[in-house]
Amino acid sequence: MALGAVAAPRPDAAATASGATRTLAGRIMTVRGPIDPSQLGIVLMHEHLASDMLLPDVPTGYRGHGPLTSAFVRRFQETGRYFRMPRTAEQTAFWDAPNLEPTMLDGLGRGWLTKSQFVLDDREAAAQELEAFRTAGGGSVVDVTTIGIGRDPVVIRALSERSGVPVVMGTGWYRWMFHPPDLARRSVDDLADQMVTELTTGVGATGIRAGIIGEIPIDAAGLRLPDPPGTIVPDSVIVARRQAVQDRIRAGGATAEHVYDAEEIKVLRAAARASRRTGAALTLHAPDPWIAYLDVIAAEGADLRRVVVGHADLVLLDEALAREAFARGVTLQIDYQLQRYGGRDIGPFDQLLDRVAWAVRAGYGHQVLVSLDLCFRQGLMKFGGGGYPTLFERIIPGLEQRGLTADEIDAILVETPKRLLTIVEPRG
Ligand SMILES: [Zn+2]
Repeated sequence: MALGAVAAPRPDAAATASGATRTLAGRIMTVRGPIDPSQLGIVLMHEHLASDMLLPDVPTGYRGHGPLTSAFVRRFQETGRYFRMPRTAEQTAFWDAPNLEPTMLDGLGRGWLTKSQFVLDDREAAAQELEAFRTAGGGSVVDVTTIGIGRDPVVIRALSERSGVPVVMGTGWYRWMFHPPDLARRSVDDLADQMVTELTTGVGATGIRAGIIGEIPIDAAGLRLPDPPGTIVPDSVIVARRQAVQDRIRAGGATAEHVYDAEEIKVLRAAARASRRTGAALTLHAPDPWIAYLDVIAAEGADLRRVVVGHADLVLLDEALAREAFARGVTLQIDYQLQRYGGRDIGPFDQLLDRVAWAVRAGYGHQVLVSLDLCFRQGLMKFGGGGYPTLFERIIPGLEQRGLTADEIDAILVETPKRLLTIVEPRG
């Protein structure tokens, strides 16, 4: 099924009046410039080569060792995902360890957190992943790290040059607790303008252009805590609040505005406008078991056939919801849950591949993607994880075992990425 047909290359077509965008329709934009879609090969569509999930652009005051600042603790708990702050002296020392060591597996297994886990700043480890990916038959990688979680175009380009792997970079902002302080004062159009500039001209003075919008988050796990700053909220409170939102989603009838933070919806609107104005695809961080937020994107005039729902495990596991998503034209992507830590699958690997095979048999073989979303140190080969080779060692063989043909696997790994990454004519 050929969705989103592309026009012939027009690399320097005239700018339009209001959007003022040079169209790159028919080409793919990497950090080293535009490439022809035929150069893409097998693609990992949702990765992070260099990132920092320790609220790097938020003035938390936390950078080095020692006691955590109250602002940091508050924001970290408000993620609703990585909220277990160290409480004992032993846990604090574990948190403060300068790097992830094999001796720390026990603590990680107990659910303790350590700060280095959240930062991908080991360039050798990243280069090792790209080189292993290329050696195993990989083609290109999409780095969906956004502003606020340590996106660094110069580092990404250097890793791409060193490995020879083409990398497509993202633009946009991550979850609200990672937003730079000025974001709350900016308008939807202002944010859309910045994304359009990064796609058409480049990031700041680097001249390095984004080639996709995202990962744009729409995540019900976040919560604004009313307790006084400086309080470490009990884990049970966060779990209960998160459950209440999930119950509301499952009960039906809620709109995106009921469930998501207004600042995340603002960024989503801006991202949809930027997709409409540039013809670039929009990739989401959307881990919840529903798709009502697609109405927000559609209302902005963006093409849902150019939208990837990332972290879509819970959508794909629900057959009725998956069919509804496919009918609206979006592509569902399984990623983070396919990783391996310390030789073990971290998610329901077999069940998820079963669902991918189901989607192909049900006629949606051009609307599913697999990636790995290596975003924590533990997933990297250097730190005992399966790394990018998991695609070749576990995922492709797993799809073959489920009876998928070479062409069907090619649709997931090559053809659908090519369709999405190839920029189309703007909608104006
Ligand atoms: Zn994500």
